[in-house]
Amino acid sequence: MKGTSFESCQRGDFLVTALSDGNMAASLDLLSGINTADARGIQRRAGIVEPGNIHINCYLIRGRGRTLLVDAGTGGLNNAGGLLSENLDALGVAPEDVDTLLITHGHPDHIGGLLQSNGSAAYKNAALYLHPLEAEYWQDDSKLKLASERGQRNFALVRRTLQAYEHKLHFLDGNEIIPGICPVFLPGHTPGHTGFLIDSGGEKLLIWGDIVHFPHIQSAQPGVTILFDCDPAQAEDTRIRVLERVARENWLVAGMHFGRQGFAHILPVEGGYRLAYFEK
Ligand SMILES: [Zn+2]
Ligand SMILES: [Zn+2]
Repeated sequence: MKGTSFESCQRGDFLVTALSDGNMAASLDLLSGINTADARGIQRRAGIVEPGNIHINCYLIRGRGRTLLVDAGTGGLNNAGGLLSENLDALGVAPEDVDTLLITHGHPDHIGGLLQSNGSAAYKNAALYLHPLEAEYWQDDSKLKLASERGQRNFALVRRTLQAYEHKLHFLDGNEIIPGICPVFLPGHTPGHTGFLIDSGGEKLLIWGDIVHFPHIQSAQPGVTILFDCDPAQAEDTRIRVLERVARENWLVAGMHFGRQGFAHILPVEGGYRLAYFEK
């Protein structure tokens, strides 16, 4: 569905808008550490109608004369998502207006939209930032050889994408990308998986990528992992650590698979956490 109103929040100088890319069909069977009936129960209690679907968000950050896009959706690959470009258009933002692409990791639901169908860069004025370990992983032929057929297509997509942005590619280090936005290394889901912390005017927002795929399930039970995790034990460790931190600091959080509401606080409850969606 094309969105005409968008969830957004202001953090100091930056306006951050959640842009839906649509849904991808998935399944609760992809989860480990919970049985499907319990997982379905959590989804039902959270009011989720299609419990196996994963919704995809991208986030647009505007302020201080800059336009940054965090992840770019599927670009319509694998019959999923693909709505980002029309939602950007509805917001009055052209692909040429985006000056910076911040990429959480190399999975196709996050980078598929970076290329046009002819293989050229969809955001031709944008510099692209990602973690060096992420590039290293997807460029590693020994990892490619171990991958399934679908996995091998993912490797090929990352390689084509990095090539198309070759002259505008920047590797994240511990430093701010621009004043007020800095990377937060959150490895496990992939080796270079990275979030982005916006800190402006005393207000913080962490865009945390794929810390959760089923937000209600994995906040209630942080030990639940998903088949897409490269290193499930490290992903779980990172999730537990970051959930504890955002709850303690009361940071607002945005997640690529949070659903259309886009932004939430994380509240501690018995045995885990729960999401409280942000209301302006
Ligand atoms: Zn992912
Ligand atoms: Zn994802």
